Amino acid sequence: MARGKLRIYLGAAPGVGKTYAMLSEAHRRIERGTDCVVGFVEHHHRPRTEVMLHGLQQIPRRELAYRDGVFTEVTTPPHSCGGVVTTFMIVASPCAVVLATMPPLLSAVANAGRHGVLVKSAVVMERLGQVDAVALDKTGTLTEGAPRVTDVLPLAGSGLDEEELLVLAAAAEHHSEHPLARAIVDVARERRLLLPVAEEFGSTPGVGVTATVQGRVVSVGAPARLLHGASDPGSARAALLAGELEQGGRTAVLVTADGRPAGLLGIADRLRPDAAATVTALTRLTGTAPVLLTGDNERAAARLAAEVGIEDVRAGLLPQHKVSVVRELAVAGRQVLVVGDGVNDAPALAAAHTGVAMGRVGSDLALETADAVIVRDELATVPAVVALSRRARTLVVQNLVVAGVFIAGLVGTLPLPLGVAGHEGSTVLVGLNGLRLLRERAWQRAAA
Ligand code: ADP
Ligand code: MG
Repeated sequence: MARGKLRIYLGAAPGVGKTYAMLSEAHRRIERGTDCVVGFVEHHHRPRTEVMLHGLQQIPRRELAYRDGVFTEVTTPPHSCGGVVTTFMIVASPCAVVLATMPPLLSAVANAGRHGVLVKSAVVMERLGQVDAVALDKTGTLTEGAPRVTDVLPLAGSGLDEEELLVLAAAAEHHSEHPLARAIVDVARERRLLLPVAEEFGSTPGVGVTATVQGRVVSVGAPARLLHGASDPGSARAALLAGELEQGGRTAVLVTADGRPAGLLGIADRLRPDAAATVTALTRLTGTAPVLLTGDNERAAARLAAEVGIEDVRAGLLPQHKVSVVRELAVAGRQVLVVGDGVNDAPALAAAHTGVAMGRVGSDLALETADAVIVRDELATVPAVVALSRRARTLVVQNLVVAGVFIAGLVGTLPLPLGVAGHEGSTVLVGLNGLRLLRERAWQRAAA
């Protein structure tokens, strides 16, 4: 057994007593403060309450009396009207009004959660029903976000073969969380290529990545952004190849080494199976087809948009451009719902009236910024949750009407037991009405 020393210090540590005294004093001050507030309210409120009660006592009370098998109405003079005051206080208290809003909204939140949509608050659930325009991101949102590298095209003058090009690109992409980066790293692994360690990694959302690999500065990203319209023969050849890939519906990714084009990668991603149905449902709900926002090239975006029925395509966008489109729609008076997955979507998700992120492929920043998260990436749950929110809003209005009618109808006309029964009954009624949104049928109707 190891030998050691146990030291015990007796006595008070310096400052502890002083801190305790400060805390006690603060506590006493808080108590005194509370007393003051209570005293103030009591002092000013009591005379007013007495006047109100006196006024209420002047109201004659009507009661139903049962005699010989018939009900007769008996009016009690004002001076013996203590009971009407109690009836008024109970009947006019707004329990049903208070319960009108939360049960429908929280039931909708719970129901959406059971179906894989994590709505972060009741306020968000309410806002979802207000949206009348939708902007959808492409890569990772409309597409599965599980792209595959289909073409590896080293440029003639680069001195690289297919495998060397892949090694440079995959090493540079190793730390990126972009779906295209994962595709590049995956294909390199499948080919059992040994990846060198990349240094000085940097990532620009909507553009690509840069890192130092084997002493060379390697960039991988959107051809249009990396070439900057350069017209030297290497850049012209790269632009031509990128055009051909994009013509075929691929996403073209350019690899440069020390600033010179080294090759191109063609990447294909599949549309989500429910993408077209989601666009149709959102168009029906909002009255206009969604807008497609993407950092990818115009041709690939237009091709995919045509497949799902979107006409308004905004391609080649940087994160700030996505925000501008959202603001442009908001200025036109639209309440915009943005659905996205990437770091490049986060500013637009924040600028939108309501932002929804894809939970599986989504980046941490997108998940944190969004108001709701589609946990299992089922795109079709987006129109369903919007429809559910609208249903919740309808129930809130119904409940407020029920509560208002009961309060107006009960005050001053009924004897105490009926007044109490009516008041409690209306409270239970609005509560149960809201809880209807917990049922499976409510989700099925919203998703239909
Ligand atoms: P989207 O808006 O459709 O989700 P992004 O803005 O994420 O697309 O990407 C836009 C384009 O930027 C891609 O098509 C690609 O050319 C390029 N890009 C962005 N990040 C990367 C990356 N890590 N690796 C390769 N290319 C990238
Ligand atoms: Mg994306």
